[in-house]
Amino acid sequence: MFIDHEYIETLLNNAKNATISDIQEVLDKACRKEKLNHEDIAILLQIKDETLLSKMFKVAGDIKKDIYGNRIVIFAPLYISDYCVNNCVYCGYKKCNEFNRRRLTQEEIKNEVMVLEKMGHKRLALEAGEDPVNCDIDYITESIKTIYSTQNSNGAIRRINVNIAATTVENYRKLKKAEIGTYILFQETYHKPTYESMHPKCLKGNYEYHLTSFDRAMEAGIDDVGAGVLFGLAPYKFEVLALMIHNAHLEKEFGVGFHTISMPRLKKAEGMDLELFPNLVDDEDFKKIVAILRIAVPFTGLILSTRESAEMRKGAIEYGVTQVSAGSCTGVGGYKEHEEGTKDINQFSIEDGRSPLEILKAIVNHGHIPSYCTACYRSGRVGEKFMSIAKTGEIQNMCQPNAIMTFQEFIEDYGDAELREKGENLIKKELNNVKNEDIKNTLIKNLEKIKNGERDLFF
Ligand code: SF4
Ligand code: SF4
Repeated sequence: MFIDHEYIETLLNNAKNATISDIQEVLDKACRKEKLNHEDIAILLQIKDETLLSKMFKVAGDIKKDIYGNRIVIFAPLYISDYCVNNCVYCGYKKCNEFNRRRLTQEEIKNEVMVLEKMGHKRLALEAGEDPVNCDIDYITESIKTIYSTQNSNGAIRRINVNIAATTVENYRKLKKAEIGTYILFQETYHKPTYESMHPKCLKGNYEYHLTSFDRAMEAGIDDVGAGVLFGLAPYKFEVLALMIHNAHLEKEFGVGFHTISMPRLKKAEGMDLELFPNLVDDEDFKKIVAILRIAVPFTGLILSTRESAEMRKGAIEYGVTQVSAGSCTGVGGYKEHEEGTKDINQFSIEDGRSPLEILKAIVNHGHIPSYCTACYRSGRVGEKFMSIAKTGEIQNMCQPNAIMTFQEFIEDYGDAELREKGENLIKKELNNVKNEDIKNTLIKNLEKIKNGERDLFF
């Protein structure tokens, strides 16, 4: 198996002896955008010195700015079923928690999507518990069809990333056929003994099967896969190195690694006690994780959910994070219920409960452009093809104008006077940063078209 625990522990132990000049060398290498090896990443993970840490954050921030500019992609999760046959110790949906479980009918999914579209969302992460009977693959693919075909005035969901349990090549083929964006699966923890104790006597308890899911997904033709670790289960340094080794494995076998990495931190959930988890990650270490991942995999999107506070999200955007969720409900049917003022059980508790409009205003106040862009998948820029465009830097010519256009769409359809004023000023400023004159001219024309009612223009 490609995750070798002893190898990871040895890397971490050796890195404890790194000198200041060893560390500086790794940071210089990162500045030159050279690929870091596992030893280098282990060295970054062992930095304790405050001056070197601030240098590391500076390098991460520069990489972020250089590759992603000031854009930040917005998405929302959509929970469609909380039936689950597993007993993950940390999760509110675990089988032994008794509550009225439900899976949404297609009509209910349509209603949820209408609410999400009214919030301005274009990009969803579809979420469901694991239950081969109550939530089989055909239900998932039918739901995807429903979501793509639900439109609410100018609202439309243009990309559905799917976060469902590890499954077979045959089922992954069905997901591919349903035109999903990224297939997301969190390993939760790469530390096998911890993995097994966190998933007792259940389908998800098979470490190897879970770990090889992306191999099966890619074998089935899925181009983009999104990894994740639930930080707080096992020591975080181990997890970060294991994530990088997993990424390297996919690059070697399939020519492309993770499209995205999610970094949820363990939070309080129904029927679990946070005090029983000795490896919780504090804010300072969490910030280091974000910065190190940014440096280690510069072209992989980093996702932060509303599990994190507004303050943490604001900081993390500066030195690493490229995508954030907004206005999230983590309960099945939660969006409609929220709109109607009722409430149900959630998978975990959230910290950032602001509406997308509030979040967008905050993002704009910090000089960032919110982006609802979904162009790559729809233009066939996926998998290896995407990574090669990303690595040459050419993707900038698409991300930046697409961010501006989708933000203009949001302002027109869902913004208020305050967002319009601040947003349009920012767009004007941002136009000056578009270097390619042809792109700039087309962009200016497209912005006029959007103001006149055209939608879904992209590069
Ligand atoms: Fe089920 Fe997923 Fe929760 Fe585990 S984490 S109990 S698989 S919903
Ligand atoms: Fe993402 Fe592609 Fe849009 Fe850039 S152009 S924001 S990489 S979908």
